[in-house]
Amino acid sequence: MYAQIIVDVAHSQVDKVFEYSCPPSLKVGSRVKVPFGGRVIDGFVIAVSEKTSYPEEKIKPVQEVFDEPPALVEECFALMQKISARYRVPKAVALRLFLPSEMRLGTVRASVRKFVRAAEGVCLPAAAKKQAQAYAYLTENGETEFVQLCRMFGRSAVAGLERRGAAIAEERKVNRLPAGEESGAPAHVLTTAQRAAVESVKNGGKMVNLIHGVTGSGKTEIYLTLIADAISRGKTAIFLVPEISLTPQMLAQLRARFKGEAAILHSGLSAGERFDEWWRLRSGEAKIAIGARSAVFAPLTDVGIIIVDEEHDSSYCSETAPRYSTVDIAAMRAEYNGCKLVLGSATPSVESYMKACDGEYNLITLPDRINSKPLPEIIIADMRREVKRGNNTCFSQALREELDGTLKAGNQAIIFLNRRGYSQTVVCRDCGYVAKCENCDVTLTYHSEEDCLKCHYCGAKYRMPSQCPECGGRHLLYNGTGTQRVVADLKKLFPQATLLRMDNDTVSGKDGHYKILKSFGEKKADILVGTQMIAKGHDFPSVTLVGILDADMSLHFSDYRSGERTFQLITQVSGRSGRADEKGKVVLQTYSPENYILRYATHYDYEGFFKNEIALRKATLFPPFALIVRIMVVSGSAEAALESLKGAYLATENLRRKTPDEFLFLNKMHSPIKKIQGKLRYQVLMRLKSDALLKNIYDIAVENTTSSAFCYVEENPVNLS
Ligand code: ADP
Ligand code: ZN
Repeated sequence: MYAQIIVDVAHSQVDKVFEYSCPPSLKVGSRVKVPFGGRVIDGFVIAVSEKTSYPEEKIKPVQEVFDEPPALVEECFALMQKISARYRVPKAVALRLFLPSEMRLGTVRASVRKFVRAAEGVCLPAAAKKQAQAYAYLTENGETEFVQLCRMFGRSAVAGLERRGAAIAEERKVNRLPAGEESGAPAHVLTTAQRAAVESVKNGGKMVNLIHGVTGSGKTEIYLTLIADAISRGKTAIFLVPEISLTPQMLAQLRARFKGEAAILHSGLSAGERFDEWWRLRSGEAKIAIGARSAVFAPLTDVGIIIVDEEHDSSYCSETAPRYSTVDIAAMRAEYNGCKLVLGSATPSVESYMKACDGEYNLITLPDRINSKPLPEIIIADMRREVKRGNNTCFSQALREELDGTLKAGNQAIIFLNRRGYSQTVVCRDCGYVAKCENCDVTLTYHSEEDCLKCHYCGAKYRMPSQCPECGGRHLLYNGTGTQRVVADLKKLFPQATLLRMDNDTVSGKDGHYKILKSFGEKKADILVGTQMIAKGHDFPSVTLVGILDADMSLHFSDYRSGERTFQLITQVSGRSGRADEKGKVVLQTYSPENYILRYATHYDYEGFFKNEIALRKATLFPPFALIVRIMVVSGSAEAALESLKGAYLATENLRRKTPDEFLFLNKMHSPIKKIQGKLRYQVLMRLKSDALLKNIYDIAVENTTSSAFCYVEENPVNLS
């Protein structure tokens, strides 16, 4: 027999199918070891055949076969072709997406443990007291883990039992299950609106369905119903959420509903847990894959439904090669399996909503919260007036009063900050010096706990200078508000309140998020202060107040999506308030209260926002009416980078000469962040009328990648840093 094999090398020159001879038992989808250019490397079996067109004597044999069942399912190969063509990556790189990285690297193995049970009717000599005790324990308690029994009665006693044949040992693979609870309401009886939504997904006649439902409209119950329906038809399901470690309640609910049939894949798990959960899906023991974007590659066959919750979230765009869009991959899988794809959000991305309006997607709208509960009232606090009044804290009078009332009523509050310690930078008031990272050309952030400056891109730490390194001045200023400062201010204002803080600095370890959210959920704190991470779909019934500090921060980024992001953020964060019986409130602090985005957001007017935004994008020719593309050139050497940059730019320029109408903009430049982790960054930035030339642009990036400079393409990049 012969095997067609793709070798696991991320290089376009070996992006071919190689043939090896193999044992007849070899299955398609297996991972193998094969000799290749004097080494032995990993490969993936994509087909086996009885014949070969290759000269027999030249063919080498497969050396080793891993995994039973084979790690890759048939569908992987179909998707591999599409992904490798779409994002112009070698097939091996596309296939890697389908395997947990720890499996490829061989750093984790199945966990095997030894268990012992009592053999029947054994008489032990009276002298062997410990053995008799251990034997009695086993007879009474049944099978026990070997190490536990040793701990109780001593290793020699257990070994003695084994020797006499009184204890029978067996080694078994055990699954490392992720921590977490099973809790949550039993299935609700669906409301009319929810039932209509489920029906519309099933019979709406379109593959992709967009559920636009306000926060608290009961989208989760719709998803769960659709998943249960797929399982009852003997199929499997994929359920994607932006950052699952941030939504423990969602997990608990899924576990309660689907028990062992649900498997979780996310970065917060230990490597062993992820490995075992992955195999539970592959072996068919688990049928529902729940996780962040990489779970779209879950090893399932016969997928019956794919759900992408909070479809607008930027975490669905991969920031490493291949830079895929999760929704695109989900659509490929839905097409392959002939199943439905459901995108859900309270604030759909402008792109998706336009597709729904154009009839490409089936649009399902849920305008009301469950039980017609009102959406929280949003109060705007004009911070310019606060400053005039001499208020220099981060809290407006309105927010202080609302906080006071909330605490007195025994309820909880969430204080949301736009970014982690943003503009907590050190500025010299005499000369304007700003502290920057030596490796990354980004502003450093001050961290008061360690009294140091940190780079958020590479993690470098710097001593806090006592005087300005440029001019020697002593008036160094920390600019702006960070979570730490908010917490400090809160402590002064409400000394009796218990506070919790959640941001990248306070969250560590694999259960870090979970612990903070859990203790807040158990009302162990009155106020939770945090960044983006607390905006996601949490459901805390006692939260009746949300404070949004500097709501307009994200309006000022130089990004065409600033307005959209701000609208989404305000809606999401506000949605945390007043979810249970009591009415919720939101105080939104801003320096530009007249901004139209804030106006629409405070009235929950998505339609209004969308009409305005889409008109603006159309007039200015920005996505979805155009495509922003950049070819990034990254290299440790300036010479190599500039060489590749020149090549890429000239080739693009050439394209423009041939098809000038396609180009709205083209330029080459330093990236806004000139250096990250010691690597220089340049870019060819362009705006194209359509995706007609996209394939050529990907080709240009591949052609200008050299051994010392790497080029890659980004489409409508999430950030242009
Ligand atoms: P969304 O995901 O749209 O923000 P959720 O799914 O979190 O909304 O639902 C909001 C609340 O409504 C939850 O507390 C949920 O338990 C409850 N809920 C959902 N569906 C029903 C129903 N059919 N009847 C009663 N309560 C429901
Ligand atoms: Zn740095």
